[in-house]
Amino acid sequence: MPLLTFRAGQYLFRAGDRADVGYLIEDGAVELRTRRPGREGGSPKEIVLLRLSRGELVGDMAAVEGRAHSLDALAATDEVCVLAIDGQQIRERIAAADPTLRTLLEGQIKRNRRMLALLRGDAADAQGALDRPSGEGPGSGKFRLENHLREALAERRLEVRYQPIMAIGSGQIVGYEALVRWNDPEHGPVDPEQFIHLAEETSLIVPVGEYVFDAAFAALDALRGPAQPFVAVNVSARQLASPGLIERVVARREALHLPAGCIKVEITESQTLDPQQVAQAIAHCHAHAIGVSLDDFGTRYAHLAHLHQFAFDSIKIDQGFVHALQVSDKARHIVRAIVDMARAIGAQVVAEGVETPAQLEFLGQAGCQFAQGFLIGKAQPLETIVPAR
Ligand code: C2E
Ligand code: MG
Ligand code: MG
Repeated sequence: MPLLTFRAGQYLFRAGDRADVGYLIEDGAVELRTRRPGREGGSPKEIVLLRLSRGELVGDMAAVEGRAHSLDALAATDEVCVLAIDGQQIRERIAAADPTLRTLLEGQIKRNRRMLALLRGDAADAQGALDRPSGEGPGSGKFRLENHLREALAERRLEVRYQPIMAIGSGQIVGYEALVRWNDPEHGPVDPEQFIHLAEETSLIVPVGEYVFDAAFAALDALRGPAQPFVAVNVSARQLASPGLIERVVARREALHLPAGCIKVEITESQTLDPQQVAQAIAHCHAHAIGVSLDDFGTRYAHLAHLHQFAFDSIKIDQGFVHALQVSDKARHIVRAIVDMARAIGAQVVAEGVETPAQLEFLGQAGCQFAQGFLIGKAQPLETIVPAR
């Protein structure tokens, strides 16, 4: 990108100029100016709106919109050095950004345009900004969904279902995975992957997680018996990082006089996992007899370093491998290798997404101890699993 130099008093651009370029100030200062109409027919008055310096962008608003500049930009120090940034490059970054941020940015730009036009007394331009429909911002759907999720949470309208986990050797149901469900009156059933992801982008995942733990404890209480099953709750990295989570879980378990080991957590591999934080959280769980599973093993940002670094009690083989068992030799080799490796490092293995007797048979022969999937049972409401025991 070309580095440009301007001397004091030189214009980088003037209002009305069209150039598909923004500037990053490398050295010196730039003033953004506009002309305000004089009072009662007097001559227009030039005003300085902003003084920008090293590290700040200038002309970016026009580059974002691909429209003419609304202000004059003037070099305000002896020498001003700027790096020209192609407008296309700026727009590509914005297109790749979070839709929520995009909506916020577009709203701000539209507001700036109109305020500047009003300041200049340019009625046509001000009306143009007003008339130009903004339409549905790319992030508006997300804002709406997030708001509805907050309401659903406050009104306790989320539902938690329990999917059975079976010991392959005995055929006994030894535990359940808690899976959250949201049936929104406006959106209908929302895919958990979608709203969990949305909740993870904000701190909303923390109260959602607390809600699921509340339900999991209610389930453990209802399922109490000589062969107490466990309930496994999915937790995200942000939840793990929230202070006091494990202490609150332990306090609830103790208040209900439930046995150690009855509540487990499942962590999904994610790019955002901070290794030190996860290692600490796992050690913390172990100190309080809370089992920790590595969920969806073999997908996403999986790397073997996770197995080496962290003391997982069990590993859940992702359903993608299980579904491929009948059609791919490779999948069979990979599943055998995962089971052998997990067992060698002292972790138990749960296969997810088991849908056929042939898959179950293969998994048993490969040495996998637990199975979960539609063959064994779908995620069900608590009322359905309690009488079955
Ligand atoms: P997951 O933890 O890997 O959960 C297993 C998912 O596989 C569930 O999808 C379950 O319904 C589905 N499943 C189970 N057996 C079968 C099968 O035999 N065949 C097929 N095709 N699918 C099967 P679900 O409920 O849509 O959840 C998706 C993901 O959302 C979960 O994946 C988990 O990562 C996340 N999630 C669900 N509930 C929570 C929660 O309370 N907290 C957090 N942080 N994440 C959650
Ligand atoms: Mg899970
Ligand atoms: Mg899983």
